[in-house]
Amino acid sequence: MKKLLFTAFWIFSIQSSFAQVKHAGAMSEMGKSGFAPTISLDSLEKYKGLVALGPMGKMEGEITIVDGIPYVGIVKEDESGIIQKDWRIQAPFLVYADIQEWEEISLSGKVSTIQELESVLEASFVSAGMDLSQPFPFRVFGKFDQMVTHIVTPRSQEIPGYKEGRNQVNYTHSEENGELIGFYSREGKGIYTHQNSFFHIHFLNDDKSFAGHLDNFESNLEGFKIWIPKSHPKLSFRVVDTDFSKGRLGFQQEIFLDDLVKFHGHLCDGLVVGTKALDYSFSTFFGAAEIDRTDYRIISGASPCLTDAASYLTGGRLQFGTQQVISKPTGLFLIERISDGKSVQVNLNAGIKPQEIISLTALAEQGKLSPCEMDHLKSLEDQFSIQVLATASAELYNLVVLDQFKWVQAPFETFKKTDVLNKNLSPCLSNL
Ligand SMILES: [Zn+2]
Ligand SMILES: [Zn+2]
Repeated sequence: MKKLLFTAFWIFSIQSSFAQVKHAGAMSEMGKSGFAPTISLDSLEKYKGLVALGPMGKMEGEITIVDGIPYVGIVKEDESGIIQKDWRIQAPFLVYADIQEWEEISLSGKVSTIQELESVLEASFVSAGMDLSQPFPFRVFGKFDQMVTHIVTPRSQEIPGYKEGRNQVNYTHSEENGELIGFYSREGKGIYTHQNSFFHIHFLNDDKSFAGHLDNFESNLEGFKIWIPKSHPKLSFRVVDTDFSKGRLGFQQEIFLDDLVKFHGHLCDGLVVGTKALDYSFSTFFGAAEIDRTDYRIISGASPCLTDAASYLTGGRLQFGTQQVISKPTGLFLIERISDGKSVQVNLNAGIKPQEIISLTALAEQGKLSPCEMDHLKSLEDQFSIQVLATASAELYNLVVLDQFKWVQAPFETFKKTDVLNKNLSPCLSNL
């Protein structure tokens, strides 16, 4: 009986953890209710991987919870910030998740504003192929050059710590080691994040003596690491190949979007569109747990991005007659599984690709874009990549099953490689 009870408890405790982001109250609503509490923190004490952000009590401090430990930043009488570790508090708004396991992705660049930090973080999420439709927490570790943070202070006289005309105390930090703890959410601006942002970020210093809400940021990010939840959905492919030059089938590997970036040469919207289209085709139509890269043939148009995604992920190659590149393809890819002849065509739905990208791409290929127009095209493509990762595959693509498909080898053609045409274009001077 004892054993049975233990098992029942164990199952319950496994089920009681959650990885998806939850929230109590909303940032944009809390002022209207006089900062009335929407959650007691001690109700979350059991979650050992808890990550959470929000204000404490009636705007009496900043709650930052990480690895299941609360760090509540509070303003002292002399306006210095200190930490309290207390579960017996309430919050008018809290965003939280229970993350059992994190994985590392890389970050690089140099940023001089919090907006630049947010776009560099977003670009890292894109190259990791993360599903951006669902919110998730993240952590960034490093020594940060310059930061401005704040801790909120009470808004009404009856709350201890109130000072007339003061809503918060700002802090400046330079060359400080620590971690940024943030939530990314494209849904409901104003719920977890400010109205004009997809991010909500706090800073916790290394010796855990300060925690506050991040307002501005300037730093070299070279060598910094981002942690993302391991369980968060992302583009990934399990592939199987032969195990040596004359070997048997059975060598297994896992491929992610950033592996394709290394092979292709850069991250671009075509790579994201093509990789996600192949993911959708393999998971929905072929229903294969792993892709046998000795068993597929693929046809596409001449796009450098689509052809690279095609050969990398299916194992099809021009010289072995398992890949074809044609001038007038219908759809993105036509994929055939050789062993059973099952064939499918995957198309990008009409209207998904922004018209401005289509028209600027045509001009770019004719060498008719100025350096600054080219940068504008890049930012449109980056936004489109984000949009693709934030949209369900079924809304982006349609699959056409080809019952009578017969592989016919077309005569070999060569094409212009369009992603190197502007390699010597000068920089946009107004961006410098
Ligand atoms: Zn905050
Ligand atoms: Zn490309």
